[in-house]
Amino acid sequence: MTDLNTDVRYIRGIGEKKAQALNKLGVFSLYDLVSYFPRKYEDRSICKPIALCSDGESVCIEALVADTPRLTRVRRGLELVKLRAVDESGSLDITFFNQPYARDNLVRGENYVFFGRLEVSGMRRSMINPIYEKSGACGGVTGRIVPIYRVCAGLNQRAMLQAVRQGLDSCLEQIPDVLPQDIRERCRLAQTAYAYENIHFPKDFNALELARRRLIFEELFVLACALGRIRGERVREHGIRMSAVDMRRFWSSLPFRPTGAQRRAVEQALADMSSGSVMNRLVQGDVGSGKTLVAAALMWYCAENGYTSAFMAPTEILAEQHYATLSGMLAPLGVRIGKLTGAMTAKEKREVKSALKDGAIDVVVGTHALFSQDVEYSRLALVVTDEQHRFGVGQRSALIGKGQKPHVLVMSATPIPRTLALIIYGDLDVSVIDELPPGRQKVDTFAVDESYRRRLNGFIRKLVGEGRQVFVVCPMVEENDGLPVKLKSAQEHAAELAALFPDLNVACIHGRMKAKDKDAVMSDMVAGKINILVATTVIEVGVDVPNAALIIIENAERFGLSQLHQLRGRVGRGSHKSYCVLVSDNDSEEVRARLSIMKKTNDGFKISEEDLRLRGPGDFFGSRQHGLPEMHVADLGADIGVMQKAQNEARLLLAQDPELSAPEHSTLRRSVERMLLANSDSFN
Ligand code: ADP
Ligand code: MG
Repeated sequence: MTDLNTDVRYIRGIGEKKAQALNKLGVFSLYDLVSYFPRKYEDRSICKPIALCSDGESVCIEALVADTPRLTRVRRGLELVKLRAVDESGSLDITFFNQPYARDNLVRGENYVFFGRLEVSGMRRSMINPIYEKSGACGGVTGRIVPIYRVCAGLNQRAMLQAVRQGLDSCLEQIPDVLPQDIRERCRLAQTAYAYENIHFPKDFNALELARRRLIFEELFVLACALGRIRGERVREHGIRMSAVDMRRFWSSLPFRPTGAQRRAVEQALADMSSGSVMNRLVQGDVGSGKTLVAAALMWYCAENGYTSAFMAPTEILAEQHYATLSGMLAPLGVRIGKLTGAMTAKEKREVKSALKDGAIDVVVGTHALFSQDVEYSRLALVVTDEQHRFGVGQRSALIGKGQKPHVLVMSATPIPRTLALIIYGDLDVSVIDELPPGRQKVDTFAVDESYRRRLNGFIRKLVGEGRQVFVVCPMVEENDGLPVKLKSAQEHAAELAALFPDLNVACIHGRMKAKDKDAVMSDMVAGKINILVATTVIEVGVDVPNAALIIIENAERFGLSQLHQLRGRVGRGSHKSYCVLVSDNDSEEVRARLSIMKKTNDGFKISEEDLRLRGPGDFFGSRQHGLPEMHVADLGADIGVMQKAQNEARLLLAQDPELSAPEHSTLRRSVERMLLANSDSFN
């Protein structure tokens, strides 16, 4: 008796060898086998008369073998089997390379269905290495829509297909339905048996679509339930309960009025921190939306409650800048603020560490040095991480581990489509800052090619003449002749600009410089001592130079849209009209389309959605840091609408049965647990 847990090696037709090959593909049980979905499909459902086929067409032909197949050995390692097949419309020359057994398989006078790529040359029609099946016996690899699987050595398509067929035949009716019946009916989804049969062996394309729709929904629904459960557990975790503080003292100390969105984000976070549960909140806001202020408000609130906060930035430059900004806001209110970065001297570090241990610091700003082993905190209650996607999950947890379950605020300037944010930050509550501080002007964006160089230089001259500063971003640090495409290197380009504008101060900054040197250049830029700063993407995140009014991005085709948007956010941070010029000599359709999106919109969320659509979720986040769970049928980029629906259904269900402990949810619960286990890295 076979059931879904039966080892594949005991399934009829699968021997030890094939079982081993299947294991390599991650297929161990019968359930794994039927859940191993095709990579793509080939439409071999239509048979055509030979004479009606056109050159290059992949097609099925039903024909009679007209002569006895001839085997010839051209040389060692090259054997040919040749034969002629005919139907009522014409004749077809068939050649097999190195398949000597074809001579015996194909019998003169019998009818077969051949599938392959047909070639026409003059009057002659031919096919090389077709797939074939006896007429009447077809419906296996010809005469239908045929699934194509990812296979490996020891297992070819035909064997895989037979294994799956065998597997389905022995368990199709046993496959449990993960979806509760009412959800399946409400969402008009196909039944399990139908879906599994037709995802492998679709009756027609319509059936395939129905099967896919159901399985995609199922996968995303399980994902949504998994995320919902993680979150449910977090919410029940006890956290440090803070007492109310009159925030007016903080707000009135500012040189400007907070925007409504900033106030809302702060209020949401304060509600979390006074609730008795642990806060896990993401603040998402476009570049320049004023996230730092939100963090400052919360850290002040913690200090008033007698607790310490840590603010972690991804780079030295940013830590430096945040330290300066936050000191400016918080020190006048009596908050004791310190700094801890890798670039500090051992003595400086020692002093800060001992102050932290003694509780003599309320707010500490730094880089990952903040969670080095030897840093001890007294009363750490809030951890803020800026530009979170740059930190590994492990790093974030290391800092959190420093306190007794501190509250966590994550700030991200990478606008992520909402649904994806829910997946990546599924365990976090989200505040969106969707309003820019007043008086911001739109950054005008242009895409140009090399022929505009002179005008561009003229533009630099004009803006610098008006007292503004300019950023120029290059994709590389040094010249690299090895690359096929000539890319602008930051150092080389800085030298050119310096020669062109001998009276201006041109500087260069890149990631390979020592932290101290970078800081020196950056503070000169902030102080207005530099007119033109040529940089690599080290300036991508956060750095604030309100007087910069122009950013030129060289080889703009090398950057992703979200990255371009981040870079553009370096200008337009003050009151001056600002510009972004994207320089690219690449005139491919795809590059043009991307750059024109940049011209059209300044909305980071829209841009990220386009970016996701154009590049897919893997590229979007970069393989290193995407943190997305692995999906089998669903495409997290393309199936966003389904994800939303699945999330709504999951929410409703978890509200009724948070632990999925009802007997009718046991299959679902097991699937959720499997998903959690398989993706324990993504779901930190
Ligand atoms: P980001 O969200 O990109 O981190 P910042 O916090 O660096 O943005 O803020 C960008 C700039 O806007 C800073 O110069 C900051 O002082 C200013 N700013 C922030 N909030 C306001 C506000 N409510 N009104 C005016 N200016 C603001
Ligand atoms: Mg910032």
